Amino acid sequence: MRKVLTIGEVLVEIVATTKGDGFLAAQPLVGPFPSGAPAIFIDQVGKMGTPCAIVSRVGDDDFGRVNIDRLRADGVDVSGIEVAPGESTGSAFVRYREDGSRAFVYNIRHSACGKLRPTAASEALIESCDHLHVMGSAFSAPELGAMVMDAARRIKARGGTISFDPNLRPELLDAPGMRAALDAVLAMTDLFMPSGEELFLFDSGRDEASVIAALLDRGIRTVVVKRGAGGASLFEKGRRVDAAPLPVQEIDPTGAGDTFGGAFLALWLAGTEPAQALCLANAAGACAVTKLGPMEGTSTRAELDALTNEEKAAQ
Ligand code: ATP
Ligand code: MG
Repeated sequence: MRKVLTIGEVLVEIVATTKGDGFLAAQPLVGPFPSGAPAIFIDQVGKMGTPCAIVSRVGDDDFGRVNIDRLRADGVDVSGIEVAPGESTGSAFVRYREDGSRAFVYNIRHSACGKLRPTAASEALIESCDHLHVMGSAFSAPELGAMVMDAARRIKARGGTISFDPNLRPELLDAPGMRAALDAVLAMTDLFMPSGEELFLFDSGRDEASVIAALLDRGIRTVVVKRGAGGASLFEKGRRVDAAPLPVQEIDPTGAGDTFGGAFLALWLAGTEPAQALCLANAAGACAVTKLGPMEGTSTRAELDALTNEEKAAQ
């Protein structure tokens, strides 16, 4: 089986239990929850039973341990997570506003994962893995971006494959070198998984069908568009499949895209029939939003099978 690698931040998330605008007054909080987009993604890949690893950096503290323990328990190779003595693991305090938007207080750039650099362990993983999942947000930190790009080139040159989730706020696009980096990744991408508007980051001003046709013409094998509460769609040459959203009660949407992506990638690598892979990943994303905490809603394959069978029985 192919082994999947991702590179990027590991952090904890601490969530306000009431809705409102930010953190200007004392309030009840819950957490720490294991988090970080690459960590959530790879946890879901691990739960699918697919060999996988993450390269990251944490402090020698409980926030780091809560992540390493969870990832290891869910089947992720954590040998590439460097534990930095005297440094602190990244964190994010999150509070939902009434309109569903989020207020954050971050400590990421100046935390242990902000100093992610190649190590002997990360080099060994880049040499032994067959697939790299790239998060576009990695390119907002120049050293991390360079490390991801180097890994992508090496894995691709050995005949490996690349998946790419742009996972980017539009305002980050104008950072120096960002567009060129994203274009270089797109040129190596086999599986592209944008959400909603991210589809138009590289190709604005056209309709969805023509943007997707252009992406497939570039040599991308599969494009999966995540549509939040609207479900998801898959495009390959001569094929379109749509998955209607599962009817669920949304408790916490954070991490749905990464969970969806981890499930879909595991199935795509295993050669699962596209409609079935989309349907199961759609269920993984739906399941993710029903749990408070970004990594709490990841699912095993058996859980996804049960969810999709229930859904079919209800139709
Ligand atoms: P994020 O970056 O915030 O983690 P995203 O924008 O990358 O998320 P979404 O489109 O929000 O990804 O969610 C991924 C998938 O999860 C959707 O395509 C859908 O399959 C599922 N999903 C998300 N929200 C819901 C919902 N409210 N009900 C049912 N399914 C959902
Ligand atoms: Mg996303």
